[in-house]
Amino acid sequence: MVGVISVEDHLAKVTALLSRPPGVELPLADCAGKVLVADVHAGVSLPPFDNSAMDGFAVRSVDVVGASSDEPVELPVVADIPAGRTDVPALLPGTAHRIMTGAAMPSGADSVVPVERTEGSGWPGSDPGTEPVVRVLAGADPGAHVRRTGEDVASGSLALAGGTLLGAAHLGLAAAVGLDRLTVHAAPRVLVVSTGSELVLPPEPLRHGQIYESNSVMLTAALRGLGCEVETVRSVADDVETFRGAIEPRLATTDLVVTSGGVSAGAYEVVKDALTGVGVEFAKVGMQPGGPQGCGRWNGVPVVTLPGNPVAVLVSFEVFLRPALRAVLGHEQVQRTKVAARLTETLTSPSGKRQYRRGYYTPPGNAESGPAAQVTGVVGPRGGPGSHLLAAFTQANCLIVLPEDVTEAAAGTEAEVLLLG
Ligand code: AMP
Ligand code: MG
Repeated sequence: MVGVISVEDHLAKVTALLSRPPGVELPLADCAGKVLVADVHAGVSLPPFDNSAMDGFAVRSVDVVGASSDEPVELPVVADIPAGRTDVPALLPGTAHRIMTGAAMPSGADSVVPVERTEGSGWPGSDPGTEPVVRVLAGADPGAHVRRTGEDVASGSLALAGGTLLGAAHLGLAAAVGLDRLTVHAAPRVLVVSTGSELVLPPEPLRHGQIYESNSVMLTAALRGLGCEVETVRSVADDVETFRGAIEPRLATTDLVVTSGGVSAGAYEVVKDALTGVGVEFAKVGMQPGGPQGCGRWNGVPVVTLPGNPVAVLVSFEVFLRPALRAVLGHEQVQRTKVAARLTETLTSPSGKRQYRRGYYTPPGNAESGPAAQVTGVVGPRGGPGSHLLAAFTQANCLIVLPEDVTEAAAGTEAEVLLLG
């Protein structure tokens, strides 16, 4: 155990441990939430051809000048163009083609009269034997209801920039320009390991002195939420050989090991006992909760060792693992959004430690929170500072950050808040 190190120093060590796996090519639907590695240029224009924005009639605008319901312009309907028709005949002067939304405009036509502004009869499928005609009840400006080739995306132009966090719209665009796979930053494979001889799993009943294991579930969920592939070892007894035996065989297929428990100052600190001297360093970080931390390499594989208390685990995830992994996953913004908020209560914090309190933040402009909340938001604590108070975390939407030199933050003053989710 070395002396106390700062949150920033430990974050830097954790970040430096992790390297980016190579990019991976995935089917589009599997790319949601992942970050695109390189720029993607459009192989086709969008739309790929001039097409109708309405169901109606493709005409030459000069043929329908002055058309009105009192003086309709009657045009013979020469062709029918449903969406998908690929052999669209040209439009001759003084005629119309019936056309559907998304169908290719015939050459010679420069506008579409929506069906609602026409009367007529006799087109294919209706009134067999009648000469198809349309009576146009309104004029059409050149270009009316025509979607132009490339007005959304020009062929060859940048469709998606490298570094884009891919959501539904991005993936839709990739599909629209004819791609079925994209190369994204690969998900690190993380092995989550909970240690503690007191841990049991349902349906085993609790005996006095035992608790149900929860850290691995939290970490697995949080890591999967980032896009990591997670393998979980839910409970390893506080025995060095058992710990090594459970983890070592899995190192070859793991990019990062995250343990919880067994790193503080007591006896039976299994993680510390197993990993001291093999490349993992343990330190006290100047923070509360989450002081006892460790990181390093075991057989070359990055290992981050978190403390055992559940709130400390989740706070450590937020402060160290989330930013480090978001960097690996290619995200530009690795930190949670920070805002200033007015405290509803006075909070105390130990000198020399950065305290992360669970809080509930109400954004500005919420009249119910009073006039002060119109400018900054307000924040109140949820639960006390105890690192075992997991239920209070479920009521929180932020972490309130009280810096190392703050021992008391008075109600009504502003504090920094990290918005979760
Ligand atoms: P440790 O750092 O191993 O001494 O653990 C600190 C506290 O966290 C103890 O009260 C443990 O029982 C508790 N704890 C450790 N690991 C877990 C876990 N996986 N799930 C729930 N509580 C845990
Ligand atoms: Mg333990």
